[in-house]
Amino acid sequence: MATPRPSVEAALRVAREFDYPSTQVQRGVDEFLREMSKGLSKTGSTLSQIPTYVNSVPNGTEKGLYLAVDLGGTNFRVCSIELRGDSTFNLTQSKVPIPRDLMVSASYKQLFQFLAKQIEIFLELHHNDHFEATVRRRRLTGTTDQYRQAEIFDLGFTFSFPVHQTSINRGTLIRWTKGFDIPDAVGKDVCLMLQNAIDELRLPVRVAALVNDTVGTLMARSYTSPGKTETLIGAIFGTGTNGAYVEKLKKVTKMATSDGPAPDDSGNMVINTEWGSFDNHLNVLPNTIFDQQLDADSVNPGIQMFEKRVSGMFLGEILRRTILSLVKDPEAKLLQEDGVSIPQSSPLYSLWGIDTSFLSIIEADTSSDLSLTKNALRNHFEVNNASTDDALAIKTIGHAIAKRAARLSAVALSAIILDTKKIDTDETIDVGVDGSLVEFYPKFVEYIREAMREIKEIGEKEKKIRIGIAKDGSGVGAALIALVAHKGNVTGRQQ
Ligand code: ADP
Ligand code: MG
Repeated sequence: MATPRPSVEAALRVAREFDYPSTQVQRGVDEFLREMSKGLSKTGSTLSQIPTYVNSVPNGTEKGLYLAVDLGGTNFRVCSIELRGDSTFNLTQSKVPIPRDLMVSASYKQLFQFLAKQIEIFLELHHNDHFEATVRRRRLTGTTDQYRQAEIFDLGFTFSFPVHQTSINRGTLIRWTKGFDIPDAVGKDVCLMLQNAIDELRLPVRVAALVNDTVGTLMARSYTSPGKTETLIGAIFGTGTNGAYVEKLKKVTKMATSDGPAPDDSGNMVINTEWGSFDNHLNVLPNTIFDQQLDADSVNPGIQMFEKRVSGMFLGEILRRTILSLVKDPEAKLLQEDGVSIPQSSPLYSLWGIDTSFLSIIEADTSSDLSLTKNALRNHFEVNNASTDDALAIKTIGHAIAKRAARLSAVALSAIILDTKKIDTDETIDVGVDGSLVEFYPKFVEYIREAMREIKEIGEKEKKIRIGIAKDGSGVGAALIALVAHKGNVTGRQQ
């Protein structure tokens, strides 16, 4: 008889809890479809289905020089993008950390003055030849109409906080997240706050578009996608997860009630689904004891339930909880053999102690003695002398958690593809993705595709779906949205 391998057997048992079989994938898709259409007709669906006032996606022939800025969480990025009109672009960028005292402050003024200052520094450094003269002239003469219109950069503003958007360049801040707290900004228009600070410096810059990162990804992918195919979905699998897609305007019936009839309902509207909160009621989502405990210990229990099973912020934490459960289990004996030690200071014992990049490392470990996994355990978690069985046990569970995440991602993507009925046409269905999880987790996209094939309405037609990374999505995408805004190819109350 083979030697008993309690930790490996216990791990297989835990891994099975993360199985997400075809039947559940199918149920998930059906529920997602229902919530999608609910969200288009009224508020109160778990999918917010937010209209973005972007009505067209690029085909790669767009040209011009645009500015883009990205206020995400930790850093502020400023870039200029030259779209060459042949699906290629040239991007110049700078990145500065946001000073902590501006993230939490009594007034929004200092933060936005800081952002405008960074734009000025960027223009002086990278576009000095073209624009210094303009800036100097404008300072001397004031903002006359003649100079106001001359050589103005259109800027796309990627702002990754919840906003209530009312047009392509108007949106009020609903609340801060990610550690920001500037009370007097809530309820104010984020584009105007930035534009006012820019105007104080008399910079030749117009805030032309307010951009969600998913929409930026969709636009960037559509510009760069091979063969001039227009992209259908832009999706993020990074710290969080979310997706945007191209919807028929006539299906966005809630716009007709809140904002008057849509001006021309024969066209399209890019919709930001906010799918991170899909199925917050847990009608169909898998819900292991580890998911339940993670949710209970999170800052927002009961919210973002889909995201908590899919995105980079959470997968490492789910794994940490499974590992601790088997460490404490006297039968499983994970990391409990002689000579193995887990010091009290190990991040394994702290909330959020495992980064999701660890899942990528162990998944990629194909060495026979799992030495990469053992090294990572030593270097990241101060665990010395882990056995090959310990490493295999952890790898087995990590794999199951990530695979479930990919299969859940397939639910969201597939439902959108089915909703748009594109699967029954001859067209290639193009999907742009971004975020470290999808970019770096080995085979994440392959697991998505495998689950797609198991959905009865997709099956073999999965071949028609093309999934590709949208590189530099937030910068290029914001530039492209600034471009469509400038062309006036948008609906809504543009001001
Ligand atoms: P953001 O979402 O802030 O734009 P990213 O797309 O880089 O940034 O996503 C960051 C998230 O991705 C973090 O939750 C991190 O744990 C996770 N992550 C970073 N590197 C990897 C990796 N190599 N494999 C899987 N996940 C990763
Ligand atoms: Mg991102």
